[in-house]
Amino acid sequence: DARINGIKDQIRVVPNFPKPGIMFQDITTLLLKPKEFKDTIDMFVERYKGKNISVVAGIEARGFIFGPPIALAIGAKFVPLRKPKKLPGKVISEEYILEYGTDCLEMHVGAVEPEERALVVDDLIATGGTLCAAINLLERVGAEVVECACVIELPDLKGRERLNGKPLYVLVESH
Ligand code: 5GP
Repeated sequence: DARINGIKDQIRVVPNFPKPGIMFQDITTLLLKPKEFKDTIDMFVERYKGKNISVVAGIEARGFIFGPPIALAIGAKFVPLRKPKKLPGKVISEEYILEYGTDCLEMHVGAVEPEERALVVDDLIATGGTLCAAINLLERVGAEVVECACVIELPDLKGRERLNGKPLYVLVESH
């Protein structure tokens, strides 16, 4: 697809952010380009339209940028998966392991019902720990995770293998 290279060209790579040795993939530069930002959303919408997806679950924070326009275009609801202590209602929580320590994602109880068909959206998959926690939250309430969708994959980190067999769709790979 000719749009892919245009999207990839608008992602800025920032060396040594937020820590020495990390090559940070910065999607804010993509957001500054209406054509390539729209191409990004369009490619996901073309893939998921008509697939009977009832819920798009977006991961804080950058899944909140890409998830809602996809949800609106395919006629699905949007559910935010948030970092701890942000959601005011009753939540279920899923901890996951980071390089140093643990983190946690939370979802409002009742936001997703059993048997719903869910798409999980984030900007980037690295080790896959974050997406794995998101999948677990949705499956714990009885939803079916149809696919995970990210703009960028760091394939060298093999995060894809941590998704319990769930399919992952990405637009851009970065090595
Ligand atoms: P994982 O859990 O797969 O190791 O890390 C993925 C999570 O960390 C995603 O929520 C993603 O937003 C964030 N992340 C890790 N590295 C980067 C990066 O280089 N660029 C961006 N934009 N996000 C990153």
